[in-house]
Amino acid sequence: MTDMESETRRARIESYEAELTAIRRDIHKHPEMAYEENRTADIVARNLEAWGIEVDRGLGKTGVVGTLRRGDSNRAIGLRADMDALYIHEKNTFAHKSVHEGQMHACGHDGHTTMLLGAARYLAESDEFNGTLHFIFQPAEEGLAGAKAMIDDGLFEKFPCDAVYGLHNMPGIEKGHIGLRHGPTLAASDRWTAIFRGTGGHGSMPHKGTDPTMPAAQFTMALQTIVSRNVDPLQTGVISLGHIAAGDIGSLNIIPSEVFIGGTARSFVPQVRELLEKRLAEMADAIARAHGCTVESTYTHGYPATVNWDEQTDIAIAAAQEAIGTANVNPNLNPLPGGEDFAFMLEQVPGCYAFIGNGITESDEFIHAPRYDFDDGIIANGVSYWVALARKELAKRDD
Ligand SMILES: [Zn+2]
Ligand SMILES: [Zn+2]
Repeated sequence: MTDMESETRRARIESYEAELTAIRRDIHKHPEMAYEENRTADIVARNLEAWGIEVDRGLGKTGVVGTLRRGDSNRAIGLRADMDALYIHEKNTFAHKSVHEGQMHACGHDGHTTMLLGAARYLAESDEFNGTLHFIFQPAEEGLAGAKAMIDDGLFEKFPCDAVYGLHNMPGIEKGHIGLRHGPTLAASDRWTAIFRGTGGHGSMPHKGTDPTMPAAQFTMALQTIVSRNVDPLQTGVISLGHIAAGDIGSLNIIPSEVFIGGTARSFVPQVRELLEKRLAEMADAIARAHGCTVESTYTHGYPATVNWDEQTDIAIAAAQEAIGTANVNPNLNPLPGGEDFAFMLEQVPGCYAFIGNGITESDEFIHAPRYDFDDGIIANGVSYWVALARKELAKRDD
């Protein structure tokens, strides 16, 4: 590739910027919640069709897949964006502020949808690749597993992919830079609960019964030894208690018969995930029995860890470096303890999940905060990354 070619490519991408910014702001202004992304899916489908891309709708309820074929190669890849918003009251005052009270694009999915549309447009107007591109626009990333819903609806049977890629905006990374890593990138995000039961009784005569507040209190302390004493020191995990409830504020002389405790557990590899699950249950049970009480514990799997595949991460790093310059790419980004349902796609198909910097901002402008806004100034870099990735993955033979 000559410098001239890459400059021409960049100039063409930048020529879409104003139109893409208008699309991004329109989506921001009209946020839609999980599995209700009908207007957004209409915008996506209408644009894809206008650019001559084949469109399939309704996968995972509101998901959209655009398909573009060139040449004679059987190779196919998926590029994925998410479309859903969050239940947050937006505190921004600009013209594209949400018009839906209590709903907001505070995670930048408006920007993800827009960047992928930009890439689809560029690639539809070019013949720079050989193979099949599936542009995957999924619903319900925020907690309701839209990626899994699309997979369960036959995403990878109807649209087989040799590799799949995701891109998320991230404050705290310099504007327009790209950061990614090999291996575990985002955490498995699980929930656990433990209900300790005893007889309870009169606070003045504890010896007449069994007191579940004792095992509950000891369990609360003891569970923090799971990561520090049971997990391999070179691995990591988090267990946090988020809710504790027992008794009645109006009955301080009563020993409650039930104490509810619950929290979150995060891990980056399956072995640690299994260990957290096993040790939480064992510990709750042993401590309950030591006090003559019983316990009913649960451990519910949320999103699995997002684990990047080596070969596809190498390709993604090379694509990012070509698209925005080596100095602007961090190939050794630290893992983040958040969760992401793209993990379900990476369990099925090799791929890589990367981040694009939304700039270094104040803490109240982090994703999921009421003043967050995707920065339209990073759209061209995001589109350039997608285009470089498509060209690398589906390289023409004469390239
Ligand atoms: Zn989010
Ligand atoms: Zn997000």
